[in-house]
Amino acid sequence: MEYHSILEKQIRKILTTNYQDNAELQLLLNTISKSYHSFDRDKKIADHAFEISEKEYQKVNADLQAQIDIRKASIVKLKEAIRALDPSEANIFDDKDEDLINIISFLEEQIKRSKQLEAELILAKETAEKASRAKSEFLSIMSHEIRTPLNAIIGTNNLLHYQDPLPSQKELLNVMKISSENLLSLINDVLDYGKLEEGKIILAERDINLKQYIKNLRSAHRLRAEERGNNLRLMFDEDIPDFVIGDDIRLGQILNNLISNAIKFTKKGVITIEVLLNRIADESVYVDFAIVDTGIGISEDKQEMIFDRFTQANTNITREYGGSGLGLTIIKLLLQLQNSEIQLHSEVGKGSKFFFTLCFKKSNTNVLEENKKMLNFEAPNLNKIHILLVEDVDFNVLVAEKMLQNWNATVDVANNGEIAVEKAKNIKYDIILMDLQMPVMDGYTATKIIREFNPTVPIIAFTASITMDVQGRAREFGMNDCITKPFNPNDLFSIIDKYSHQQS
Ligand code: ADP
Repeated sequence: MEYHSILEKQIRKILTTNYQDNAELQLLLNTISKSYHSFDRDKKIADHAFEISEKEYQKVNADLQAQIDIRKASIVKLKEAIRALDPSEANIFDDKDEDLINIISFLEEQIKRSKQLEAELILAKETAEKASRAKSEFLSIMSHEIRTPLNAIIGTNNLLHYQDPLPSQKELLNVMKISSENLLSLINDVLDYGKLEEGKIILAERDINLKQYIKNLRSAHRLRAEERGNNLRLMFDEDIPDFVIGDDIRLGQILNNLISNAIKFTKKGVITIEVLLNRIADESVYVDFAIVDTGIGISEDKQEMIFDRFTQANTNITREYGGSGLGLTIIKLLLQLQNSEIQLHSEVGKGSKFFFTLCFKKSNTNVLEENKKMLNFEAPNLNKIHILLVEDVDFNVLVAEKMLQNWNATVDVANNGEIAVEKAKNIKYDIILMDLQMPVMDGYTATKIIREFNPTVPIIAFTASITMDVQGRAREFGMNDCITKPFNPNDLFSIIDKYSHQQS
């Protein structure tokens, strides 16, 4: 039997040869040799284990170093980002400072500050919204308050025109008519401006016979132009299709304003309304409009500012002819709403040209059909039409009732919503004209109740308020349409004529 090499050496050194005869000694040597071998084995295992943990240690160490590098780079980047964000904080950190604690507390402070700022902003927004709501409400109430007496003035004037006044009285009535209509247009301008600012104007889409429309506009302004010794000309491009689709009321607002200005700022000159075809595309017709005058002109330094609200280039003229300085601002906003822009060429002493291009939709209506309809047109007559007029203001009742009776309608009056509900229960009306703001029961509530037992009778909101909110709300409560006071007699007639035959 071979012993472990170290034991062999020791045996050779220490023992005599006859040790092999001694069985007990042999047993001892065998046991020692086994111990040496097992020691060797354990040592190998230990060495191997140590080698492995050394490698792991190196790896962990390398990872740790990489983490430290990333952390250092992140701190540098964080500092750079904070400095870029707020240069005033540039010196707050020491470049050598690698401690995250400072940065964290700095960021905590920043978050606290921005939260505070956010809360302040929310408060400011809420205050601004409240102010804007208050402004809208104020405008709505004021418009109602001003339009109600104006309704009486304009309405009475219309009635007097129907009563064959003497020529001298007619002249005075005309002065009253023009002044009250000017006042109404001023109120509408102020209201419109508010609505445009809030983005609350929705454009209508109606067939417009442009040629006829522009001719009417010219007729409406001709007298005033002539009074100032002006020649009001029209240049209309015959290539423009007979009918186009657009918002005639807003177009009228723009052109009326420009023509009135041209007349106002021109004496013994020429004013030309130019309407030319720009181009016809797939579904659209582009038309160039220009109002050209030979009046006082506008100096170059004022050409931009006159489009700002409440600004006027020439205060002397304004004192003479009035004006709010809102007209051009509204024109600018109305054109913006239609993706267009008002432009101006002007020279002092020579005149001004205001121009813009509008895009209309193509229309299928043709002029022959429309003419046929016009031939069938009869004088306003509401014979056999039974109308319930719900209105609390005596003046308004007087004006509307007289006008309706002029057209031979039968009119019942209710002074508040409650009376209206009772009457509508007992009598089958062809149409109900419903004021909205009334004592005892308002028009909304009355309509809601009437709708419970009569879903078909046409109910038309008859209101001095012209905001979209009011019109939308009126429909929500079951009204079919809306007419504003002071009413234009033609509009009132058409709306009654349209709805009063609809009931089954
Ligand atoms: P308003 O006419 O009510 O004062 P506008 O906004 O319509 O308000 O016009 C603002 C100003 O622009 C006018 O006051 C006037 O100074 C100037 N302006 C407008 N149109 C003309 C024009 N055709 N010729 C000369 N000046 C004009």
